[in-house]
Amino acid sequence: MTLKIGVIGTGAIGQDHIRRITNVLSGGEIVAVTDVNQEQAKQIVEVEKLNAKVYDDGHALIQSEDVEALIVTSWGPTHEEFVLAAIKAGKPVFCEKPLATTAEGCKKIVDAEMAYGKPLVQVGFMRRYDKGYRALKNVLDYQKIGEPLIVHCAHRNPTVPDNYIGDMAITDTLVHEIDVLRWLLNDDYASVQIVTPRTSSLAKNGLKDPIMVLLETKKGIRIDVEVFVNCQFGYDIQCQVVGETGTANLPEPSSVIMRSEAKLSTEILVDWKDRFIESYDIELQDWINSTKKGIVSGPTAWDGYVVAVVSDACVEARNSGEIVSIATGDIPEFYKGNLSIVGEA
Ligand code: NAP
Repeated sequence: MTLKIGVIGTGAIGQDHIRRITNVLSGGEIVAVTDVNQEQAKQIVEVEKLNAKVYDDGHALIQSEDVEALIVTSWGPTHEEFVLAAIKAGKPVFCEKPLATTAEGCKKIVDAEMAYGKPLVQVGFMRRYDKGYRALKNVLDYQKIGEPLIVHCAHRNPTVPDNYIGDMAITDTLVHEIDVLRWLLNDDYASVQIVTPRTSSLAKNGLKDPIMVLLETKKGIRIDVEVFVNCQFGYDIQCQVVGETGTANLPEPSSVIMRSEAKLSTEILVDWKDRFIESYDIELQDWINSTKKGIVSGPTAWDGYVVAVVSDACVEARNSGEIVSIATGDIPEFYKGNLSIVGEA
C-alpha cells in the first residue's frame, strides 16, 4: 500500500521532502500540494512530474479524500492551524519545526491530539535520526561512560542571511540542541542561563553572536551550548558528553583525509543540509513506515511543546541575564513510551 501524502508549503524544505519521497524513499506518493505561492506549487508538480493536484489552500488539501497523511512545511506561524485541522480530520501529520510559534499553541495541539485519542503528530526534529547522535545515545544508554555529568556542545554556522534577526539564535538554531539533548540524556531541563561573550565584528544586524547557553537538567547534568552563527569556517556541530568513567564525542562526518602541501587535512561541511541529509531521509522513511502501521514513532507533539517552553525560557534568560527556571510538567501517559522507540539505534 502506498501512503498518499499532501504537502502544505512548497518552499525550500517542502521541495526537498517532495523530491526525497518521490525519488529516494519508498512507500509514499505525493498526491497533493499547496502553497500561497501557487506558481511555485505548480512548478514542483511539473518539474518532478508528480501525479498531484494543486490545491488553493491548506485546509482544502487537508479535507481532500485523496490525501491520507500530511506534511506541513509552510511558514512557521501557519503550522498550528494546519496541524489542528489535520487532527480534526483524523489524519497523520508530519510538521516541520516549530510545531507552533508559541508554547500555548503547542499545548493546544497536545490537548487536541489527546482529546482525539490517538497520536497523529510527528515533529521534524531530524537530529534524532542522525547516525552519529544515535551512536552517541547507544554509548550513554548502555552506560559505557557511566552516568553523564557534563555536556559541551557547539552549533556553528558559517554565516546567516539578513533576515536572521532577534531571537532566531534560540528559536531557529538552538531548538535542535534543545530537542536532541533531552532525547540523548533521557532527561528534562530545570533551568537556563545565557551569557554573551564579546560579539564578533562579523555579526550583522545588531545580532549578539556568539552566545553561550548554560542549561541544567532535572538530574543535575550541566550543559553548555555555544551558538555561533557567523563563525565563517563551516557548519560545525559538536557534542561531547563527560561521564563518570569516560567521555564520548559525537563523531565527525566522514571526510577524505588528505596529505598534501605539507598539511594533513579534512574538509569541513558548510551547509546544514549536507550535514543532515541522511537524517532527513531516515526520518521521513520512518514516518512513512510508522504512519502505515498507524503509529507515531518519532518526536511527538509533546516534544514540540517541551521545546517551545524551553525556547521561551531561553529568550527570557537572554533578555534578563538571570537564571530562569523551566517547568514543562510531567509527560502525559498518552505520550509515554514513544521516546524509547526512536532511541533504539
Ligand atoms: P520557505 O522556503 O520560506 O518555505 C515556506 C513556504 O511556505 C513558502 O513557499 C511560503 O510561501 C509558504 N507558505 C507561507 N504561508 C503559507 C500558507 N498559509 N499555506 C501554504 N504555504 C504557505 O521556508 P523553509 O526553509 O522551507 O522552511 C519551512 C519550515 O520548515 C519552517 O518552519 C522552518 O523552520 C522549517 N525547517 C526545518 C528544518 C529542519 O532542519 N528540521 C530545515 C529547514 C526548514 P511564501 O514564500 O510566498 O510566503
